[in-house]
Amino acid sequence: MGSPPRWPLLVAGTLQDTEDWWQVPDAFSGEVMADVGMAGRRDVDAAVAAARRALTEWCALAPRERGILLERFGRAMDDVADEIADLMHHEMGKPLAEAAAEVARAAEVVHYFAGEAERLWTTQLPGQTPTTGSWIRPSPVGVVAAISPWNFPVALVVWKLAPALAAGCTVIVKPAIEAPLAAARVCRLAVEAGLPAGTVSCLTGDGPLIGEALATHPGIDKVAFTGSRRVAEQIASWAAPRLKALTLELGGHGPLVVLPDADLDVVAEVAVTQGYANAGQACYSVNRVLVPPELAGEVLARMRARIATLELGPMATERGLRRHHALLDDARAKGAHVEGGDTLDGRRVAPALVTGAGPGTRVVDEEPFTPIVSVVEAADVASAITEANRPDYGLVGYVCGGDMRSCLETAQAIECGTVVINGWRVVVPYAPYGGWRGSGVGTELGRPGLEAFVRWQHLRVLA
Ligand code: NAD
Repeated sequence: MGSPPRWPLLVAGTLQDTEDWWQVPDAFSGEVMADVGMAGRRDVDAAVAAARRALTEWCALAPRERGILLERFGRAMDDVADEIADLMHHEMGKPLAEAAAEVARAAEVVHYFAGEAERLWTTQLPGQTPTTGSWIRPSPVGVVAAISPWNFPVALVVWKLAPALAAGCTVIVKPAIEAPLAAARVCRLAVEAGLPAGTVSCLTGDGPLIGEALATHPGIDKVAFTGSRRVAEQIASWAAPRLKALTLELGGHGPLVVLPDADLDVVAEVAVTQGYANAGQACYSVNRVLVPPELAGEVLARMRARIATLELGPMATERGLRRHHALLDDARAKGAHVEGGDTLDGRRVAPALVTGAGPGTRVVDEEPFTPIVSVVEAADVASAITEANRPDYGLVGYVCGGDMRSCLETAQAIECGTVVINGWRVVVPYAPYGGWRGSGVGTELGRPGLEAFVRWQHLRVLA
């Protein structure tokens, strides 16, 4: 067998070898599928210098021209979508259909922001004469460090890359080492699509080393991060004293509030689809189903029937597998009832369903990030809302109910950046996605996700 392919760094529009390499294991066979470059501080300096040089050219382009190049980038993603999905499938174990859907949705985001690039406007507020007044113009924030996690390795790169480029910023992407290949392939496509050298770089390697080098670098203007709260606090502590702009997209603890007139098939579909998608390794997961006591038995029965048809992909990391069992052990020790959840083979586990867990039990207090859903009885809607808002998370919530007025009132009382009513599809390119409270700072996607990469300039013309 030949040696595995090498994936060098992408810096200043070229592929660059490194001294150290990281072996990426295939999540299914365990064999090394590629060696990726491990960036050092010198590579960070080179990527930042290239991004600063490219900034002048990139932001001088007319928004329409940037849009055309982004559109070409989006089409390139469409063309090799199968190849990117296959890389993701093997590097992190995501089932192929889910990987393909992620790539397709991510390409939609690129197409959306290609259009938005043209719609970035300059407003003129007229003064007393034709040559006086106020011009309000968007200017790019500058050089952006985009640090992303492994659970949606393509989507969460693109949510930063596409709007930042549309706004005229240049970007250094740092994918997670657990899933670097699909993200690196996407960055290469941007370069192949004709974006100027240095506009997009990709530094694979050690998270803490590259993260610190980027977040403390004087040439970086903004850090856009998705990942855990622990790392977010670290990054913020580096960026804050240097007054760098920050976007932090963190974990969630998704509540699903079941109203008394809900369609229980829809409840079961939302709970199971969102509870176990990506083997529970999703920030938007349903983690707690808050159900009126009289409906609990029927909701559980319908969930069990759906769970029986599921086949989850392997957990992406050993750490995740250990965490899954530690959370279930904690639940049992605190008197909750656990169904399923066993290890099947390798890193594959059965979906777990927990009942009888209350505050103080980890599964209902901490983001599980493993395939565990807790069903919790709530005496009435008010107590369901109180429980929905209890843990310090506020990313995505769900409401199921018949009466739309009650659904909307309940949704507005849930302190989450997104609340989905009677369904589970959370993300669309044109709507903002962001965590409230402990789930983050700032917003991605939609118009606010573009303006996150803009600084406004007011030109006051008085004569
Ligand atoms: P993580 O915080 O461990 O890693 C995220 C990124 O930070 C990776 O690129 C990693 O290499 C890097 N990193 C790790 N340690 C670092 C350090 N000390 N300094 C600088 N950078 C460092 O997160 P993860 O385990 O990859 O991802 C899981 C988390 O991401 C979960 O909490 C999940 O909910 C969250 N998430 C949030 C969203 C959202 O949009 N809100 C989406 C997906 C995942």
